Amino acid sequence: MSALVYTRAFLQGLEPDPLITVSEWADRFRYLPKESSAEPGKWRTQRFPFLREIMDALSPQDPTTEIKLIKGTQIGGTEIANNFLMCYMDIYPSPMLLMLPTETLMKKHRTMKLIPSIKSVPRLLAKIKPGKTKSDVGETTMMEFPGGSLMFGYSNSTANFRSLSFRVVCLDDVDGYPDDVNGEGSPIVLAKNRADNFPNRKIYINSTPTIKGISHIEREYEDSDQREYYMPCPFCKELIKFEKENFVYEYDEKSYELTSDVRYKCPECGELIEEYHKTWMMDEKNGAKWIPQNPGHPYKGYRLPSYYSPIGFLSWEKIFREYLKALKAKNEGDDRKLKAWVNTRDASPYEEHHEARPESDILLLKRDIAPGIVPPNTAFLVMSVDVQLDHFWYELRALQYGNSKHVVRYGRVESWVELEDIFSAYYEDKDGNKYMVKKCAIDSGYRTDEVYEFCAMHSNVCIPIKGAEKMIGPWRVSDVTKKKDGISIATGLKLYTINTEYFKDMLHANIDRSIEAAKEAELDQNNVLTLHNEATEEFAKHYTSEVKAEEVNKNGVVKYVWKKRYSRAPNHLWDCGVYNTFLGELLGIRFLRKSVKKRAPKPKHVMNSVANYMDEF
Ligand SMILES: [Zn+2]
Repeated sequence: MSALVYTRAFLQGLEPDPLITVSEWADRFRYLPKESSAEPGKWRTQRFPFLREIMDALSPQDPTTEIKLIKGTQIGGTEIANNFLMCYMDIYPSPMLLMLPTETLMKKHRTMKLIPSIKSVPRLLAKIKPGKTKSDVGETTMMEFPGGSLMFGYSNSTANFRSLSFRVVCLDDVDGYPDDVNGEGSPIVLAKNRADNFPNRKIYINSTPTIKGISHIEREYEDSDQREYYMPCPFCKELIKFEKENFVYEYDEKSYELTSDVRYKCPECGELIEEYHKTWMMDEKNGAKWIPQNPGHPYKGYRLPSYYSPIGFLSWEKIFREYLKALKAKNEGDDRKLKAWVNTRDASPYEEHHEARPESDILLLKRDIAPGIVPPNTAFLVMSVDVQLDHFWYELRALQYGNSKHVVRYGRVESWVELEDIFSAYYEDKDGNKYMVKKCAIDSGYRTDEVYEFCAMHSNVCIPIKGAEKMIGPWRVSDVTKKKDGISIATGLKLYTINTEYFKDMLHANIDRSIEAAKEAELDQNNVLTLHNEATEEFAKHYTSEVKAEEVNKNGVVKYVWKKRYSRAPNHLWDCGVYNTFLGELLGIRFLRKSVKKRAPKPKHVMNSVANYMDEF
């Protein structure tokens, strides 16, 4: 941008602004295009009464320089940014920046949300300098209009705006931003700094949150006056806000299906509020308003969970059906749905548990089954090996129908021959049925060539694995190659690289659930981990050797990663448990159901685990 344009824009920014706020502008000029709206047609702030104050805080009449929104979905959050940017382009033209996490997301947002919105406001469309093609609006990197421009930026490449200044900065979806861009620090800070020259700057930051302690929008909201939307109770008229704890409903404890309506219990008078009441409650005319929880802070912050979604958008019933589904998945060891629910519906960062658990808790998981004996209801046996310089640690585990697991035996051996004896032996249940190990995972991070050779010799059972901490997805498979005369040739062996953070989270959650069950004497239910009756304190020590701990990087960003409790904590059996958790997922144990159809009793024989596996489908 030339110095001339910059100066002119700067001076215009200082001129007194006409007296129209962003919400007034939207009510007068804004149409919701049918391409991107559930309810196309004329914009009415009244439909989302809680958005009025946020839009007005973004207006030039309000001196607040930073406005933050931590939001759930379906509460109109996306339209705030549209109304904000379009109002300034039309009435308060200035140098402006809109930033999204990536170029792809920016392209999508520009063509699917922003351009259709602009096209539905002809007076604004007429002001924008045409792009190369007729159907387009402005250029792919920016839109120019008299008195200003809107630049498009991506958080993973700040090169195109590094040297420019902006009065208006809109940072959208910030929890998708990296912590650091090219070693220059946080893209949020870099973008904010670009507005320093403007005393009347407006910086708007919004996102749904992610993980507690990592979430960018959580930190931004904490650095604000932290407003929540309060509404009069239709019964006692006290001001209350919607919080997860006060919703009441019934559900089936087995299937987790909702079996009643969802109502809100007034924390003041205890009356049950029906969802249809919320239109009256949220209306500002009846006294609803934003109340700061951290009053006096110079920045305004707003938190909007999806419970406020207007009638006709997202219902309480749908929100809590999803919640129950997520809870069910978490109890089965997978908390991804619950994470997503907490983030997108409750508008809260998800808290991961990472306190150390007492060793004695692990020993609560012992069942009255001797070492080496296969428990009832077993589908397969699996085994995992942690390789050390001159010895090995192993855990042999039964995977049971209903996703329970039982540690059949574990220990330390000194040689490959001993390992071979352990995985090639027959194991019996109390009725004399025989089982063999179906898969044995061997850590190849150490003594790699030996591991490959051993796995190649026993390729029907043994697979080499390697742990990785930073990867997307739970595991990946690659070919093991060998160099011969300078050429790589495939050995036929497959290496499984596994996401150790992911499987540690999963095992940890399963142990949590199992300890809870053990404390209520319910270790015979599905989806628990149990131990043979001679499991020792040494085993418990290994299984409590790691905790999820904070790690702060050079930019001050906190992450939670699995770490040893102290530097020499023995964790080999814990590692074996993590690898066995991976084998359970690899073999699809979660989805396996015991066939209920009656068959002729089979003669006792060695279970052919492959045939057995296929039988179940
Ligand atoms: Zn009440």
